[in-house]
Amino acid sequence: MTEAVRTARENGIVGAGGAAFPTHVKLASKADVMIANAAECEPLLYKDEEILRHFPDLFMKGLTIAASAVGAQRIVIGIKDKHPDLVKMLRDRLPRSVEIGLLRDTYPSGDEFLLVRDLTGRQIPRGGIPIDVGTVVQNVETLYNLGAGAPLVEKFVTISGEVDEALTLKVPIGMSWRNILQALRIGTEGKGFILGGPMMGTVIRNLGLPVTKADSGLVILPSGHSLLVKKSRTETAVRKIAYSCDQCMRCSDLCPRDLLGHGVKPHRAMISVTMGATEKLAWNRSALYCCECALCTLYACPEDLDPFRVMVESKKQLLRAGERPLKGHVENNPMYKYRRTPTKMLVRRLGLEEFVRPHRYIEKDLRPEELAIPLSQHRGSPAVPVVRKGQKVEARELIGEIPEGALGSRLFSPLPAVVERVDNERILLKVL
Ligand code: SF4
Ligand code: SF4
Repeated sequence: MTEAVRTARENGIVGAGGAAFPTHVKLASKADVMIANAAECEPLLYKDEEILRHFPDLFMKGLTIAASAVGAQRIVIGIKDKHPDLVKMLRDRLPRSVEIGLLRDTYPSGDEFLLVRDLTGRQIPRGGIPIDVGTVVQNVETLYNLGAGAPLVEKFVTISGEVDEALTLKVPIGMSWRNILQALRIGTEGKGFILGGPMMGTVIRNLGLPVTKADSGLVILPSGHSLLVKKSRTETAVRKIAYSCDQCMRCSDLCPRDLLGHGVKPHRAMISVTMGATEKLAWNRSALYCCECALCTLYACPEDLDPFRVMVESKKQLLRAGERPLKGHVENNPMYKYRRTPTKMLVRRLGLEEFVRPHRYIEKDLRPEELAIPLSQHRGSPAVPVVRKGQKVEARELIGEIPEGALGSRLFSPLPAVVERVDNERILLKVL
C-alpha cells in the first residue's frame, strides 16, 4: 500500500464530486494521466471554485500526491474558460509540468466521460470507467482533502438560490441543514429546497437531514418555482405525461452520452411506457448507459415531459432484472462539439437567471448540539461502528471502520462529543 493510498484510506476520504467512491481504491490504480476535475458544471454551486481560490496550496499538494500514486506522467486541471482570473492565479503557482485544460461553459462538462474526451481525446468505452483509458479523475475537494491529510470531518457546501449572496463554507459532517440555515440566519418560510445542484439534485422537504461526504450544497427557491414542481412529479404523473411525447427526438439529439456515441435514446424510452415488462426491458437497454444528467427533461424536451425519470426508472428495472452495462467501443457523433448545452441557456431555461448572485467563501465556527453520522454515505458497505452509547469521543476520533475485506470508508467524530445512540443506520453524537 502506497503512502497516498494509506492517507486516503485512514482518513476516510471519498470522491467529493457526488459519487463518494472511496479514494484509496482509485489511487491504487495505475494511469498515465491524472485529471483534476474543476469543471463544476451544476449552475449555482461554487464550492470547487472557492476551494481553488482560497486553498490552492492544499489542492496542489493533493494533486501531486495523487498523480505520483497512480504514476501519471501527464497532469491536467480541467477548468472552465469563464474563470480567467482563477486560471491566471493557478498558472502563476503551478509547476510547468501541470497543464491547464480549458473547458467551454457547457453542461455537463464535469461528467467524467466528457471531461476525459475533451481533455485527452480518449474515449472511455461504453459501460467503462476512466481507468480503461489510462486516466484517473479526482474532484477538486477530494484533492484538497488528500493534501490536508487529516480525518475527513468537514464538507464544503454552497448555500445558494434565493439568498442575498451564495455562501460557500465548511460544515461539520452530520450537522443538519436546518441548523446550518439557522446559523446563517437564512429563513425557510415559503421556500423549497434542492439538495445538490439544480440539475442532478433532489427536492427535500426534511431539513433535518444531515450533511454527508457526498453533498455539495443546498439550492433554496421560492416554493412553487417551476424547477421544484418538475422535480417533484410523482411516478404516475411522469408516466401519464409520457403519452404526449411526439417523438421529436430532441432529447436524444442533445443527450451528452448519445453525442459521445453510447447510443442512449431517451425518446425510445418514452414509447416504452405503454409496453409490457419484457418488451420494455429489450427496448430500453440504452438506459444502462444514461449518466442521469437530467438534460433531456430540464433542457431538451419542448413538451415539458420527463424522459430523464423514465430513463432512471428503466435503468432500475434493467438492473433488477440482472442486466449489466456491457463494455463497447464508441465513436462520438459528428455533432459532438456543436450540440453541447451552454450553461447560460440552461440557466435561462431553468428559470434561475435571477438567482445567479454574487458568491463568496466564509469561515464560520459551527457548533451544533448534535450530529447524526450516517454509516452509509459512500459507495460500498456501510461503516461498522467502533463506539458504544455513552462513550466520550474527541474531535477527529474514529467512530466507524471499513468492514473487513469490503469496499467502504471510515468515519470520524467532527467535534468532541458523547455517543448518544448507535443503530443500523447512524451514530448520533451529543456535542460537548
Ligand atoms: S439523463 Fe437524459 S440527457 Fe442525460 S444521459 Fe440520461 S438520457 Fe441522456
Ligand atoms: S424531446 Fe420530449 S417530446 Fe421530443 S421525443 Fe423527447 S420526450 Fe418526446
